[in-house]
Amino acid sequence: MISNPPRWPNGARCAVAITFDVDSEACLHGWKPEIAHRRVSTLSWLGYDQVAVPRILGAYRHLGIKQTFFVPAWCMEHRPRLVESMLDDGHEVALHGYIHELTHEHPTRAAEEYWLGKSLDTMERITGRRAAGWRGPLYGFTEHTADLLIEAGFEYDSTLMGDDVPYFLHGAKGDLVEIPIDTAYDDWAQYVENFDFEFFTTIQSPDRAMEVIRAEYEAAHKYGGLFVPVWHPWVSGRPARFERITRLIEDILEAGDVWVTTVEDISRYIRALTDAGEYQPRVDHVPYLTTPVAEGLAAVRGQTDGSEGS
Ligand SMILES: [Zn+2]
Repeated sequence: MISNPPRWPNGARCAVAITFDVDSEACLHGWKPEIAHRRVSTLSWLGYDQVAVPRILGAYRHLGIKQTFFVPAWCMEHRPRLVESMLDDGHEVALHGYIHELTHEHPTRAAEEYWLGKSLDTMERITGRRAAGWRGPLYGFTEHTADLLIEAGFEYDSTLMGDDVPYFLHGAKGDLVEIPIDTAYDDWAQYVENFDFEFFTTIQSPDRAMEVIRAEYEAAHKYGGLFVPVWHPWVSGRPARFERITRLIEDILEAGDVWVTTVEDISRYIRALTDAGEYQPRVDHVPYLTTPVAEGLAAVRGQTDGSEGS
């Protein structure tokens, strides 16, 4: 089924890295900056991260695993103790923008570079560390992102969805390991309904949601792939949902043949295996494109958009 699975360490059948994106209130401030400060109910919903993260850390301690948290640097600035508690327990903290600003909405390369630099500087100031990994808020990734990440010294990105196993992004400035994800195991699709985000779904029962997510893990396990769920503490850290998540992690650990680790560890392992000539990962050359493919259509749309306000 998977044409090019890597040889995972110690004969493991697949690799699992659970990722929580700890967006907190930054999610609304970065996405809807003009209204966020007046939407207290949604801010409190996002701020539930303060309750959920300690719960998640407690479960990880109990289960004896180290995992990855993607955190906007603004959240590190505003809740330094929360990030400290992740690092104190030996987890990986990677970057997820400065204030969850949408990468694909930056008007220029310079603007994207500015916000990336701001997130890196802030993280270093607060934690004394430099992130090895990046995940673009709302899956934002432009024609400039790979080169900017490589220039800034990142080892991996985990925003894109182009394969079942790690692959490489090759750009003008060098290369980057891509740890791919998929919306099939993003918890927004299962649970999020919110008027301020204008995001509506039919909220699923935790059992139904985990049926969808677990199927992805089972296929990764069967075919030698990778399972990197994209979860959010304020969404999946609620009691009923997190109880099902704990059950899934217990089952994964009980299988005894799964490499459960951080995204950083997987990225470094793939890089080392590749450098040693023991694995030939797929390479995606980036950027894919720098101008619209349907150029004529884009021009017509531009004219239409421009005339709407007149
Ligand atoms: Zn996010």
